Amino acid sequence: MTDELLATARRFAAEELRPVALAYDESEEFPRAELLKAAKLGLTCFDLPREYGGGGVESLLDACRVMEELAWGDSPITWVILQGGFFAGPILALGSDEQKQRWLPPLCSAEPPDCAVAITEPGAGSDAAAIETEARRVDGGYVLDGDKKFIGNAHIAECAVVFATTAPGSRSKGITAFVVEHGDEGFRRGARLPKMGSRCFPAGELHFEECFVPEDRRLGDEGEGFSGLMRVFDRARVQLAANSLGIGRAALEHAVDHAKERQAFGKPIHEFQAVSFRLADAKLKLEQARLLTHHAAQLADHGQPFATEAAMAKLAASEAAWFATWSAVQTLGGAGYVRDSPVQKWLRDAKLDEIWDGTSDIMRLIVARSLFPK
Ligand SMILES: Cc1cc2nc3c(=O)[nH]c(=O)nc-3n(C[C@H](O)[C@H](O)[C@H](O)COP(=O)(O)OP(=O)(O)OC[C@H]3O[C@@H](n4cnc5c(N)ncnc54)[C@H](O)[C@@H]3O)c2cc1C
Repeated sequence: MTDELLATARRFAAEELRPVALAYDESEEFPRAELLKAAKLGLTCFDLPREYGGGGVESLLDACRVMEELAWGDSPITWVILQGGFFAGPILALGSDEQKQRWLPPLCSAEPPDCAVAITEPGAGSDAAAIETEARRVDGGYVLDGDKKFIGNAHIAECAVVFATTAPGSRSKGITAFVVEHGDEGFRRGARLPKMGSRCFPAGELHFEECFVPEDRRLGDEGEGFSGLMRVFDRARVQLAANSLGIGRAALEHAVDHAKERQAFGKPIHEFQAVSFRLADAKLKLEQARLLTHHAAQLADHGQPFATEAAMAKLAASEAAWFATWSAVQTLGGAGYVRDSPVQKWLRDAKLDEIWDGTSDIMRLIVARSLFPK
């Protein structure tokens, strides 16, 4: 990766994201202007292959560095900016050359389409193999029936990778991925869900009622979706860890500045060990998590197995960000609890990273399984 890309991400975060972040949190408006500016700078597709118009950054470590910088500026706008890359994940993992040619170049354009990746359902979250959205084979394609919930970009999605089962009851063995497009009959974008944090990155529901998708929309073979999904998840979890690091670093910097300036009992509050040790712990947790994150990314870059390391990185980084943002609110006291302070927003934003792409419990489960393989 050129240093130029990292510098661009850093500058964009400081000049374009940080100044507008609180306003978007309040309004919950979709940050279209920032998405388009990011697209102009190549930040929406920097890690997509050059042959489809992307920036060609293949290294996960480099992607993590860019992610951390952007998330330092604002995490929810970063999710909006990088949503195309997540949509591209299953297509790159499972799609044919023709399918890649069809759906990837638009993601690298000046006006990338809003897209989504839909796995979670009202009855299946952590247990992704339990999804019930069914894809029934018919002449020339499939008919999809079912509902998806908590899906990023759902109510505006122009296209979505949807995971469904082609063999109900057979759990992971039946899971198959499809691309569904806005306008397909029987595909309905549902309600947007109000959230505690990451508020300008919308999440909502998708509905499929007798929705016909032609055969050429199926990604990979029937039953191949789950293994493709796991490969995508491993990379996404490392990137998500980098996102947490960005939020946590922002909060720690803010709290340190405040602790130097704020006086109590005749001295700056950082001179109280209760304050400085709390921030020292936040620093320690973030640095530990960064080492785990970069280690997992380096394993991926060297073609080594990294699923357990990805889980450890996500777990450590999301918990470090939660602790760092909690510490920042605590350090600012009342000044951290009011709505015009960024630290209360970062606390709410950080919480998401302990939940999605696998909760912290599920990350511990993955680590535990590596200790006790069957
Ligand atoms: C803002 C937002 C955006 C999202 N975006 C997307 C998206 O774009 N696409 C998508 O498909 N999904 C998305 N999700 C869904 C997200 O991935 C799920 O919320 C997450 O996987 C957890 O599933 P759940 O909410 O159903 O929780 P549940 O699975 O119901 O879990 C509830 C609790 O039980 C615990 N638990 C469950 N199973 C176990 C176990 N085996 N061992 C120990 N504890 C367990 C969990 O850790 C958790 O604490 C999004 C969620 C949010 C909040």
